[in-house]
Amino acid sequence: MSGELRGPKGTYDVLPPASATWLAVREALLGPARRAGYGYVEPPVFEDVELFARGVGASTDIVAKEMFVFTDRGGRSLALRPEGTAGVLRALLQGRLHTGPLPVKTWYAGPMFRAERPQAGRFRQFQQVGVEAVGLDDPALDAEVVALAAQGFAAVGLTGVRLLLTSLGDAACRPAYRERLQGFLAGLDLDEETRRRAAVNPLRVLDDKRPEVQAQLGGAPLPPDHLCDACRAHHDAVRESLADLGVAWSDAPRLVRGLDYYTRTTFELVHDGLGAQSAVGGGGRYDGLAETLGGPPLPGIGWALGVERTLLAAEAEGVAPAADGALDLVVVPIGGAGSAPKRLGVRTADALRRAGLSATVVFGDRGLKGAMKAADRSGARHALVVGERDLAEGVAQLKDLTTGEQRAVPLDDLVTRLTEELRP
Ligand code: AMP
Repeated sequence: MSGELRGPKGTYDVLPPASATWLAVREALLGPARRAGYGYVEPPVFEDVELFARGVGASTDIVAKEMFVFTDRGGRSLALRPEGTAGVLRALLQGRLHTGPLPVKTWYAGPMFRAERPQAGRFRQFQQVGVEAVGLDDPALDAEVVALAAQGFAAVGLTGVRLLLTSLGDAACRPAYRERLQGFLAGLDLDEETRRRAAVNPLRVLDDKRPEVQAQLGGAPLPPDHLCDACRAHHDAVRESLADLGVAWSDAPRLVRGLDYYTRTTFELVHDGLGAQSAVGGGGRYDGLAETLGGPPLPGIGWALGVERTLLAAEAEGVAPAADGALDLVVVPIGGAGSAPKRLGVRTADALRRAGLSATVVFGDRGLKGAMKAADRSGARHALVVGERDLAEGVAQLKDLTTGEQRAVPLDDLVTRLTEELRP
C-alpha cells in the first residue's frame, strides 16, 4: 500500500496555531460554571453499550443508528460515548458522590462520537463541554444551570445565541399527554416509519422537520399545555428565576430533543448564523435517569455545548475569543551546534522558563536572515538575538517584534534583567 494516510471520515484535527482559539473557546464556555463551584469529572470515553441503550434510549437515533460499538478482546460489548450525561451520572453513582452534600455539581469536556453523515458543523468525533447538577429538583438550580450556558456563550463574545425553553412534564403527567398525542397522531396521514415512531416515542414526531409532517401538526397537543400542577409550578418558578437573573429566552412549546431522558425543564441554544445545524447547545432535567441506570431516585439537570459550532458561530459573528498563546520571548542564537551563542541561548531560554516566562529557541543553523524569519513566525513578542560579536562585547540584542525596536542588554544578570523587562 502507498499513499498518504488521512484521518477517518467525519473527524478533523485540532492544530496550532488555530488550536489556541479552540482552547480559548472551551475555557470561555466553561468559565461561568467553574466560578459557580462546579467540579471537574472525567469518565472514560468508552462504556458498556448497555449504559447508553438504557440511559439515552434504545429507540433514539443516537443509540439505534449512530453509535460506534465494538467488542473488546474479552467479548464485552462497548461503545464510544455519544454524549456525556449517562457516563457522568454512572460515574457519580459508582463513586457514591450522591451520598455526600447535594447537589453534586460537575463539569466535563471531551470528545463525543456519533456516526452521523458529516456536513458543515456535524462531525463523527466532536467536542462538547458540559455540566451536570445532580441531587436536587430546585427550580432555582435549573435557572442557574441554564444561565451558566447563556453566560458561557456571552464569555466567548457571542451576541446571537438564542435560548429556547420548554417543559416536557414528568412521570406523573407525561403518560396521559403521550396518549393524547398518540390519539392525535393516529388521525394524521403519516408514512409507515413515522407511524412506528409515533408508537414508540410520539414526542419525537413533533420534532420531524419534513414539511409534509409539519403541515399536519398545527393542532397537535403540546407538552407545556398538559403539565400536572407540580410540573407547571416548577416551570413557572424556573422562568421567574431566569427573569431574576436577566436571562432572555423564548418559550418553545414544540421543542423536544433527541434523547429520551429529559423531564420538565428542557432547552436548546441556537445560533442563526449556522445554517441547518443551528443548535450550539442543549440540555435539560433528567429526573428518572439515575433509576434507569440502576441507582436510587436522584433528580438532575445539565447541558452540553458544542465547541465546533461555537467556533463557527464566532466566525459568523466576527468575534475572536482571546487566545493567550503568545510567547514572551524567542531566543535567536547565531551559530551552529556547540557554538557559544547556541549554548548561551539554550541556557537562557531554559532559565527564563524556570522563572515563569514562556520562551522558545530558534533551532537549526540557518544564518541571521533565516533565523530572524523563524523568530518572526514564532508568535513571540520579543526576540533575544545572540551573536558571536555581541557576546565578545558582553551583550545580546533584545528586539521588540511588534515595533521593531532593538537595544543591547548586558549579559551579566541577563535572566534577571529579562525577567523584569518581559514579565507581563
Ligand atoms: P446533543 O448532545 O445532541 O444535545 O448536542 C449538544 C450539542 O453538541 C449540540 O447543540 C451541538 O452543538 C453539539 N453536537 C451534537 N452533535 C454534533 C455533531 N455530530 N457534530 C458537531 N457538534 C455536535
